[in-house]
Amino acid sequence: MRGRGEVGGAPVVVRTRDELAAVRADVRGRLALVPTMGALHGGHRSLIRYARERADMVAVSIFVNPLQFGPGEDFDRYPRTLDEDLAVCAAEGADLVFAPSGSVMYPSRPQVTIAAGPMGEVVEGAARPGHFDGMLTVVMKLFQLVRPDVAVFGEKDAQQLAMIRRMVLDLNVPVEVLGAPTVREPDGLALSSRNRYLSEEERVTALFLSRALRAGEDAVPEGPAAVVRAARDVLDGAVAAEPPLALDYLVLVDPSTFCEIGDAHSGPAVLAVAGRVGATHLIDNLPLRFPSKES
Ligand code: AMP
Repeated sequence: MRGRGEVGGAPVVVRTRDELAAVRADVRGRLALVPTMGALHGGHRSLIRYARERADMVAVSIFVNPLQFGPGEDFDRYPRTLDEDLAVCAAEGADLVFAPSGSVMYPSRPQVTIAAGPMGEVVEGAARPGHFDGMLTVVMKLFQLVRPDVAVFGEKDAQQLAMIRRMVLDLNVPVEVLGAPTVREPDGLALSSRNRYLSEEERVTALFLSRALRAGEDAVPEGPAAVVRAARDVLDGAVAAEPPLALDYLVLVDPSTFCEIGDAHSGPAVLAVAGRVGATHLIDNLPLRFPSKES
């Protein structure tokens, strides 16, 4: 395998558990894992770079996990672009790519899975029942197969990140979990593999999501209720736009529990929004901090 610091060469690509185990046995030093579903973009690139700065070797997994898609969701049409993804991994200096098939990850239908618990039933979990059970199950399987010392996830999926932290805590998983900031287009749209589904007009409507979050951020000095009001005012424009946004939720939550916070809250919070534009499900969020009342 490539040595530390060499960027631009081809990573080792493995497709089976045996190949992965053989390569894993040769890894020396701290190994970071960046789990992805492929269709890699600038957000994934930044996670790989973030991982490279914090570990000796970086593995990227590419797997569209059927278990985390509900009936009627976009599993079948989810973009699969392995050749381009391998070029991105090489350009960003990943050392190893694990790109298993469905039958490698799930030789039989799993009977024992991870239950996400109460956090899996709120906010995004309420909009997508079972999604977080499926996500945690595949992340746990990836942890067992790759045995990373550290794993890097995007704050773009803030509830996912909070739940993985919780799983690692509750099940004593020996992996350090790191969150990396959301990467956005210059106009504010959060990068997402699903953005490629958007028509030009739909993209204009999608921009309301990040604009609403920014409006909420501007209202932080006036307190939590004002933040939600300011964001909702912007989203009203999106709901009335053509094509319209079908709003799933706009919530202000505690970052570690994803329970909604009250107007007396101080400290960190996450303003989270999701909705559909056409057939495309989009989510975004912004970490906020409310000053304590005494200060
Ligand atoms: P996905 O391929 O969509 O499952 O995402 C794989 C990882 O990339 C997850 O940890 C996501 O949170 C992260 N990610 C997705 N979009 C972004 C973004 N715009 N900025 C930073 N990280 C992201």
